[in-house]
Amino acid sequence: MILLHKITNSLKRKYVPARVKTLEKITREYKMYNVAIIGAGPAGIFAALEIMKLKPEWKVVLIEKGQRIETRKCPLRQGSPKCVNCKKCGLLCGWGGAGAFSDGKLTLTPDVGGHLAEYMTRNQATDLIRYADDLYLEYGATDEVFGTDKKVFEELEHQAVLAELKLVHSPVRHLGTERSLDVLKNMQDYLDKRITILNNVTAKSLIVECEQVKGIELDNGDVISAEYTIIAPGREGADWLTQEFAKHKIGMVNNAVDVGVRVELPAPVFEPLTSKLYESKLIYHSPTFGDEVRTFCMNPNGEVVQENYSGIATVNGHSYANYKTPNTNFALLVSEKFTEPFKEPIQYGQHIARLANMLGGGILVQRFGDLLDGRRSTPERIKNSVINPTLTCATPGDLSLVIPYRQMTSIIEMLKALDKLCPGTASRYTLLYGIEVKFYSARVKLTNELETEGVKNLFTIGDGAGVTRGLLQASASGVYVARTICER
Ligand SMILES: Cc1cc2nc3c(=O)[nH]c(=O)nc-3n(C[C@H](O)[C@H](O)[C@H](O)COP(=O)(O)OP(=O)(O)OC[C@H]3O[C@@H](n4cnc5c(N)ncnc54)[C@H](O)[C@@H]3O)c2cc1C
Repeated sequence: MILLHKITNSLKRKYVPARVKTLEKITREYKMYNVAIIGAGPAGIFAALEIMKLKPEWKVVLIEKGQRIETRKCPLRQGSPKCVNCKKCGLLCGWGGAGAFSDGKLTLTPDVGGHLAEYMTRNQATDLIRYADDLYLEYGATDEVFGTDKKVFEELEHQAVLAELKLVHSPVRHLGTERSLDVLKNMQDYLDKRITILNNVTAKSLIVECEQVKGIELDNGDVISAEYTIIAPGREGADWLTQEFAKHKIGMVNNAVDVGVRVELPAPVFEPLTSKLYESKLIYHSPTFGDEVRTFCMNPNGEVVQENYSGIATVNGHSYANYKTPNTNFALLVSEKFTEPFKEPIQYGQHIARLANMLGGGILVQRFGDLLDGRRSTPERIKNSVINPTLTCATPGDLSLVIPYRQMTSIIEMLKALDKLCPGTASRYTLLYGIEVKFYSARVKLTNELETEGVKNLFTIGDGAGVTRGLLQASASGVYVARTICER
């Protein structure tokens, strides 16, 4: 198959210098795919798995700019003290997408991790999530689920309400980073034999004619011709998606941008919640601004990690199935939805993260007490704490120089509310890392089938489209469009 692309490419150079239209005819003579998928994150992988189930005879190509799962590398994970800003971030790009090195918390509800239920009924979304979860089990996921005991949940929900917090019911299957990699490898092995997987190539531009997608031009000059295209580039590819869609006049709606910090504290502080629910989703409305603040991606006995979005260092967290730290971490994110005329929420988030990078040379860390006292944290002060940071490359500094007053106030108010539920949360030793920002900002205008409005046969799924925000909904969105395409 790759050889055919190369032949097409050499024909392009020899005989058809600039005419993509003519080139497309030539490509079609050699190979026409039924479906091309951009991005081998959970959304793209699950789309491919479902197509192979329903139409095993179809020709499918999956284009991924990163490495195969077994060769994916992140220097930080291999002991490098600092992120070295790889051209293609090994943590976010490659088979398995952004979730590959995560601890694989599969949230089993449509209320968390995306907007899938806005494109279908809640029951349909629940069924899809269950179906995707079963597929994870089929490929080797553990069968242990946390947070299913209704009585325990109701008790915690009651305590949360007394602290003005809303606890969202969200049972979680926890894979752990090691098992997550095994599951993804099993999926790769299965698809390797059935579809064409192109690694280390980037989708450069979409080929659209008469308001219908015809294929994709790759960065190596090859052209892929396909009847249907599914775009699943994740947050890493959200910028590219926005630019490409602007070119083809595909509508985008501003999504909220979530900016905040990663909180790290001694694991016993959150044990009342984590021992029963593993991950708890808590929502709070800050009294000063009325903004929504929420906990996100909770990692009991986990570690804080740095990631790299297009050269910008941001913070995240995960935990392992077989390795435990004495700390728990979670994000506190403040949702900000912008009104006219502002249209660049991604750039807004990037700007704040860049500011933190500028001051700290990467990630900043500050003790909550220092923040309240209006002073920076220093290596000495961090050392004289009851908690050791798990992200050792973070620079002690002052987050109040970086985070806007509005978000900072909301974060402080939420920490104080959480302290009522889990005493010790607002301790002066609690560590805050910045910046955590979620770039699922621009949301594509899509039909209920997740097809783009304006360009036929072009489907957009997963986090990059602003449709989802987590592994299971991203996976479910892949299954959903695969079924739609196969039915057509
Ligand atoms: C450290 C970390 C921990 C996380 N932990 C959890 C968790 O425990 N539970 C949870 O539910 N969610 C978690 N998430 C979020 C989860 O990983 C994402 O929601 C999910 O991966 C989104 O899936 P996706 O397929 O839409 O995109 P992604 O997983 O981001 O995959 C997109 C893929 O597309 C590729 N790509 C992008 N642009 C192009 C292009 N132009 N050409 C070719 N390829 C391209 C990228 O290289 C990438 O591999 C975590 C994320 C991170 C970063």
